Amino acid sequence: TDPQRIRNFCIIAHIDHGKSTLADRMLQLTGVVDQRQMRAQYLDRMDIERERGITIKSQAVRMPWTVREGDLAGEPYVLNMIDTPGHVDFTYEVSRSLAACEGAVLLVDAAQGIEAQTLANLYLALENDLHVIPVLNKIDLPAAQPEKYAEEIAHLIGGDPADCLRVSGKTGEGVPELLDEIVRQFTPPTGDPDGPPRALIFDSVYDIYRGVVTYVRMVDGRIEARDRLTMMSTGATHELLELGVISPEPTKSPALGVGEVGYLITGVKDVRQSKVGDTVTALARPAAEPLGGYSDPKPMVYSGLYPIDGSDYPALRDALDKLKLNDAALAYEPETSAALGFGFRCGFLGLLHLEIIRERLEREFNLDLISTAPNVVYRVELEDNTEHTVTNPSEYPTGKVAAVHEPVVRATVLTPNDFVGAVMEICQNRRGKLLGMDYLSADRVELRYTLPLAEIIFDFFDQLKSRTRGYASLDYEPSGEQSADLVKVDILLNSEPVDAFSAIVHRDKAYAYGVQLTTKLRKLIPRQQFEVPIQAAIGTKIIARENIRAMRKDVLAKCYGGDITRKRKLLEKQKEGKKRMKMVGRVEVPQEAFIAALSTS
Ligand code: GDP
Ligand code: MG
Repeated sequence: TDPQRIRNFCIIAHIDHGKSTLADRMLQLTGVVDQRQMRAQYLDRMDIERERGITIKSQAVRMPWTVREGDLAGEPYVLNMIDTPGHVDFTYEVSRSLAACEGAVLLVDAAQGIEAQTLANLYLALENDLHVIPVLNKIDLPAAQPEKYAEEIAHLIGGDPADCLRVSGKTGEGVPELLDEIVRQFTPPTGDPDGPPRALIFDSVYDIYRGVVTYVRMVDGRIEARDRLTMMSTGATHELLELGVISPEPTKSPALGVGEVGYLITGVKDVRQSKVGDTVTALARPAAEPLGGYSDPKPMVYSGLYPIDGSDYPALRDALDKLKLNDAALAYEPETSAALGFGFRCGFLGLLHLEIIRERLEREFNLDLISTAPNVVYRVELEDNTEHTVTNPSEYPTGKVAAVHEPVVRATVLTPNDFVGAVMEICQNRRGKLLGMDYLSADRVELRYTLPLAEIIFDFFDQLKSRTRGYASLDYEPSGEQSADLVKVDILLNSEPVDAFSAIVHRDKAYAYGVQLTTKLRKLIPRQQFEVPIQAAIGTKIIARENIRAMRKDVLAKCYGGDITRKRKLLEKQKEGKKRMKMVGRVEVPQEAFIAALSTS
């Protein structure tokens, strides 16, 4: 296809503002998906995405469009729509999808206005030099206030409020006009058609039948179906087995040229060999320089995953090996916990990523799991000048600590004016530093904070939502690290540390953490033959203590010696329970106690 006839664009929006619904309408209007095949949110293919109504992996679809109105009426074009993941955990993938486009449709719910992810995605689009078409969606809603929000958008990106298009993804109103504007306003791709090929990988998906399917945007040159390809970040070469475009099902194609968006299959079995952000070139005529912007995915949040039934450990390992094929950001290594047995320490991009993996392990692989409280990665410097990266609090180095560094994020909170006080209070309680504050309109405020990532991963979002009655929205991005007065708190049962409960917390919050966990465990752990102290400690210093008193009566005494079948039942039940007991030193702890203590903290 002549690059002049191509338009590559994405739709960016805050979650629930109607991106998937609008994409569905576009697929229908362009005739790519007919009425019969249509199902809601066609592009959201993963079960979890469909159920939660969120887009996790991005997708690209090629749509033919003949302009309907104006000077270009009757001219045929090819539109490549690249769907981006909408959640903060996947910012890097979003930025690579945007880099594959010339333009972005900025979609805003006409009953809600601009939200935090609208802004975050807009900034990413502008960083990638994209032209932006502002669009108000859901104009069919009685509560829509297109005038008000057109002003808000114009205030944000400049231009005239009247230039803001109005559509309904639900009824289809205004969507043909939007497609025309996409052709008119977005620039065609530019690139050197005769140069060595360079294609940007913006998505990479493992498919059990075809192996890894890699989505690319051609920047320069051509890739042909018989080429041998080189991945520029590693120099690894692969045979090209299939090349094509998605419209909306994969369709083979003999070559991809400048500006085109398509997929390639090389037979690799692991997305780590075909990484988002990498540049693909041809072995026979290799490019000298890769495209910019590549970085390796880095886990930000760690948690221990353990099978509730210890015999499921090999099944858990196999399941993680399978999920890894499709997830370059998932990291894991075996770990043993005295309290929980054999499991894995897993690294994730963020909390949603963790939840998704956990849910898939439970749902698709039928595993029952315990996960330890999530923690961030700490860098600990000791006075002997050694440095340690800590992904598991129970592996905190011993020795005199010179400094502890924790990751921080730059957070943006958008809130109605009335809740500014509440938002500030939440952020201050979590060691936030206010960076700035702006009024988007008379009644809506943008607050920017630096916050420790560790403070955000514990119910920050829930707190924010409940204190602002759901009106505030949040977005954040990694922003380096800071040193902080952090300490490791251990929980001791009969003087033995219970590794699953060790945590790294700010010194000011160590006492509260200690009291909370010792109290909880006292309620959960049954009495033993002897008195058992539960203590919280920083090093050798005890900061909280509870006691489990010794058991007085035999359980069987309750049965008055009479009913033998009842007695046997009780013994059997006890035996059943014993199987699930873990020994911590001399203390027997039912596994349920660990699960309960971990799940609510
Ligand atoms: P996404 O998270 O941005 O992909 O949003 P979805 O497309 O999943 O839409 C979120 C919700 O808004 C769904 O319940 C949709 O049915 C609804 N919705 C989307 N577009 C419209 C619209 O134009 N009008 C109305 N009334 N509802 C819409
Ligand atoms: Mg969606």
